[in-house]
Amino acid sequence: MDGRDRYALFDAERHRADVRRFALSARMPEALARGEFVVEYQPLVRLCDQRMVGVEALVRWQLPSGRRLGPDEFVPLAEQTGLIVPLGRAVLTEACRAAAGWAAADPDYPLLLSVNLAARQVREPDIVTEIARILAETGWHPELLQLELTESDLMGTSGESLGALRALAAMGVRIAIDDFGTGYSNLAYLRHLPVHTLKLAGTFVTGAQLRDGLLAAPPGEAADEADNRVVAAVIQLAGVLGLSVTAESVETDAQLERLRQLGCDTGQGWYFARAVPSDEVPALLHCPPWLSGAPAAGR
Ligand code: MG
Repeated sequence: MDGRDRYALFDAERHRADVRRFALSARMPEALARGEFVVEYQPLVRLCDQRMVGVEALVRWQLPSGRRLGPDEFVPLAEQTGLIVPLGRAVLTEACRAAAGWAAADPDYPLLLSVNLAARQVREPDIVTEIARILAETGWHPELLQLELTESDLMGTSGESLGALRALAAMGVRIAIDDFGTGYSNLAYLRHLPVHTLKLAGTFVTGAQLRDGLLAAPPGEAADEADNRVVAAVIQLAGVLGLSVTAESVETDAQLERLRQLGCDTGQGWYFARAVPSDEVPALLHCPPWLSGAPAAGR
């Protein structure tokens, strides 16, 4: 195959991907109206005693064909078209309603509800009143709501958006930096943001940053040791700034042990549980499979 053919093939593939993305974007408003977006919940676990202390709400798109798309496959499209605003509102409403239901059944075990928020949503002029309205309507408590923004979205926040985050924090809502470590945080600026939690990107937890050569292990040091030091430094930084740390993508016993020794507060990942439908959350709370002694594989 000569170079030109290869480019033709590449163009054809890119064209197919563009067509598919366009078709998904075009179907999204109808899919939202028909209730094709479903919310699942992944446990947040306190590492010192492995108690479930919260959940992260994660949206999936259940296509009529039976295929299910993860957020990576459609949230960026929804951000481009603006549909993320009504979609985000629907997810937050459903998650608050579900959380209020768990709390009514189990008032002694309040769970923190963590929900992802896109930069586009924060830029909506009525975001604060909208969230206050959802909390009032569903009866969920602002102190038990955490909103996750990615590092790049948060670092780009200024003016009215920053004011909105401050107003939400003043209502008692927690703000978390999602995927911390994958962007370029301005540490001086971080101090001025209304942030309560750092969510350490999974690549640090699994060591992929080092395996993939994104970070170099210092000479004479095993990759694992260098990785430990990066994670330890982030946890220390969080301590200095008065923030709590959640580790994403905890998959093995060894990672859990390492994070616990380093003083990480909470974790989430397949080691504990995958995301589950709302009616399965109470069972995870009362009989956490990660404490049952069952092998981690297949969880
Ligand atoms: Mg998140």
